Amino acid sequence: MEDAKKLSNPQVTIETIKKYRFAFQKRFGQNFLIDGHVIDKIISAAEITKKDTVVEIGPGIGTMTQYLAENAGRVYAVEIDKNLIPILEDTLSEYDNVQIINQDILKTDIAQLAGDGRIKITANLPYYITTPIIMSIFENHVPAESVTVMVQKEVAQRMQAKPGSKEYGALSLAVQYYAEPYIVANVPPNCFIPRPNVGSAVIRLKCYDIPPVKVSDEKLMFDIIRASFNQRRKTLQNGIKNFSELDFSGEQVKSALLEMGLPENVRGETLSLEQFAELSDLLAKHRVL
Ligand code: SAM
Repeated sequence: MEDAKKLSNPQVTIETIKKYRFAFQKRFGQNFLIDGHVIDKIISAAEITKKDTVVEIGPGIGTMTQYLAENAGRVYAVEIDKNLIPILEDTLSEYDNVQIINQDILKTDIAQLAGDGRIKITANLPYYITTPIIMSIFENHVPAESVTVMVQKEVAQRMQAKPGSKEYGALSLAVQYYAEPYIVANVPPNCFIPRPNVGSAVIRLKCYDIPPVKVSDEKLMFDIIRASFNQRRKTLQNGIKNFSELDFSGEQVKSALLEMGLPENVRGETLSLEQFAELSDLLAKHRVL
């Protein structure tokens, strides 16, 4: 399709919205892209080729989907809003490699779409559920090669943050356990209709085959991480001791920290992923003693 006829041309998007009298739904986080350069950056960061099967989360009216259809082998476009389905059937009618699925992505078996291979996931994500979507992809061990998505700029910074920075937290650790994050580009509000109130960024998460740290009990480590960042100004020892889903005494945490050569009043925001894995393994040992 000629670029001028694509939905990335703002005029085409406006005409399509008018034609279908489409009403934007705030509750679905609908901000449609109207900038082809941004979409090109997503496609090239995700290294999409004809060999790839791509799952697009929330295609909207199909703006990025048109580019994906032209560059990928197969595209599954999962959209929750049933009012968008007839529009997608129209805007994607000339592509025979796209399947539109009217479903909530959080209730979709993405792994099944992958078949025997690995998929690439792309999206201009609905910002109200960014973290649940990313975490469900990782925690369900979806066979994804990479996840290249538009998110709120501040969320992209949190995903990429290193220990000691103010953006560092449970999301940084979770993302960095499963993938290597890389911020591809910052994207201003005028690249969308309607304009969001916040800045956005494209981030690529390259999924690891094997996590970068070894830990005996993944769930325990993530509970410890959540406990540590639950009350930010508390020491790690108090955070873990007071976290209802964990059953460790202050003394047990203190002795594990000492064994790691850390002060007993250390705060979670200074610990690296490797240190959380070590702490988790030491506490797991205490639990079985
Ligand atoms: N990809 C389009 C674009 O860039 O123009 C639309 C992006 S818009 C930020 C987010 C899209 O996700 C909307 O189309 C919205 O209806 C859809 N969406 C919201 N929640 C969803 C969910 N739980 N499952 C699938 N799609 C969802």
